[in-house]
Amino acid sequence: MSEIASLAFEDQFVRELPGDPRADNTLRQVMKACYSRVQPTAVARPELLVLVPEVCALLDLDPTITPEVTEVLAGNRVVPGMAPYAACYGGHQFGTWAGQLGDGRAITLAEVAGHDTEGNPQRWEIQLKGAGPTPYSRRADGRAVLRSSLRELVCSEAMFHLGVPTTRALSLALTGDPVQRDMLYDGNPRHEPGAVVCRVAPSFLRFGSYEIHASRDDHATLRALVRFTLERYYPQYISGDRLDIAGFLEDVMQRTAFMVAEWMRVGFVHGVMNTDNMSILGLTIDYGPYGWVEPFDLDWTPNITDASGRRYRFGNQPAVAHWNLAQLGRALAPLVDDVEPLRRVIDAFPGVFSSLHRHTALRKLGLTGHRDTGTDDETLLSGMGELLVGAEIDMTLWFRFLAEVPSGSPADRAFSILREAYYAPAELASDQRTALAAWLPTYWARVAVENIDDQERSHRMNSINPIYVPRNYLLQQVIEATEAGNRTALPELMEVLRRPYVEQPGREKFAEKRPDWARNKPGCSMLSCSS
Ligand code: AMP
Ligand code: MG
Repeated sequence: MSEIASLAFEDQFVRELPGDPRADNTLRQVMKACYSRVQPTAVARPELLVLVPEVCALLDLDPTITPEVTEVLAGNRVVPGMAPYAACYGGHQFGTWAGQLGDGRAITLAEVAGHDTEGNPQRWEIQLKGAGPTPYSRRADGRAVLRSSLRELVCSEAMFHLGVPTTRALSLALTGDPVQRDMLYDGNPRHEPGAVVCRVAPSFLRFGSYEIHASRDDHATLRALVRFTLERYYPQYISGDRLDIAGFLEDVMQRTAFMVAEWMRVGFVHGVMNTDNMSILGLTIDYGPYGWVEPFDLDWTPNITDASGRRYRFGNQPAVAHWNLAQLGRALAPLVDDVEPLRRVIDAFPGVFSSLHRHTALRKLGLTGHRDTGTDDETLLSGMGELLVGAEIDMTLWFRFLAEVPSGSPADRAFSILREAYYAPAELASDQRTALAAWLPTYWARVAVENIDDQERSHRMNSINPIYVPRNYLLQQVIEATEAGNRTALPELMEVLRRPYVEQPGREKFAEKRPDWARNKPGCSMLSCSS
């Protein structure tokens, strides 16, 4: 375990890729470069609220909160060996090419030679978000508020413990500097506490990192970046001078399909699936106005900016991933002689996704997804979909309660167990009870084919259906408590979310369906990009 100044720093990204010759923060178009060297801007009174021990372990960092680690993770000190930079990237936002975006408030401090959770060598980028302006800040201030930084910290760690591919979070620091935000874009700006989250991933490269160079017909920088990506993260697609671009795209496509299928499994809605927020490693990145589905609703979007078009609604995430992959394919096209293989990869996405999704849906029901059972799984799954959308049903609780219903139970018995998952059980219309009664026999018949007892079925279901997820209102309560000076609510929530599949006695309040007061409260139902 080392102090932060003695970590095994590396600087491959800045050493091997073309960079911006300038090192000031003036806003500009940065050409023929993958990054600009920048320094974080110091803050007034840093206070480190959280330093995540498991993430420290990946870096071999001593998890003790010291003045030095606080200074570094709030952006007040850069230690020798660090080579801070902001990355240059572009992106399609809400379906439209937005040109250069780049790290407007994220600054990668350094790369660290550490290891993964299995102990294999792994390089990590450590990146501050909210550490001050960069050449990419456009009209904004380069800062972040506590509200959004806390949401990123909690959700990225929760996703890791849920088993969903994600970037990690090392720390959260208050800056002592207020930041002005108009959270609801209604002309009522207020000062909020500023914060810096330090996030960690093997790479923060995004689809937009490649799109920017392709959009400028800068094929030399594009090729250099793709070669760098393949050497570090996809070495199987490189042999000598030959880059297997189609193989690489296929791999990114598979990983992206898996990531989105996992989002659908746990009820996560990203909220801003712009191509600049899509990781080249298939990780969930850039936690902003995301949300967790409470009443199962494929049309739900947590992002107020998206309220009219609902492009990024829960049920549209697979289609958007497909569209985004097509943009990546287009960006990589200048590097190949024949685009047909790239086209085939993109065309394969819907099939790949639906087979993953079907498999996951069966596993959520305690069924094995791959065995040829000769049963009609489509009827089973579409019937389940209709049930879930037919009434306001809490997705998380419904699957947990279904695991407790004894096989073969009639609808009334089942309903008495599932009841608490319904938002209005008393008014539950008789047609919904009838729908449950119609679906259950199909389910019990399918369970019988599986030849498992109830204990095995509930064990399977409870290891894939979480009981604790970062519900929007739980996060909002912790944000309000932390803003008011409470220092125990945040660690308590993070501790619960470390074991999302295991019922924890005394933690019942974290597994309750959304209370009525939270239905329309900002932060609990609708979230803003203003962060
Ligand atoms: P996001 O929607 O958070 O993925 O951000 C889209 C773009 O806006 C990225 O280029 C961000 O770096 C930039 N951005 C967002 N918020 C800020 C801010 N407060 N200061 C500077 N740039 C920002
Ligand atoms: Mg972003």
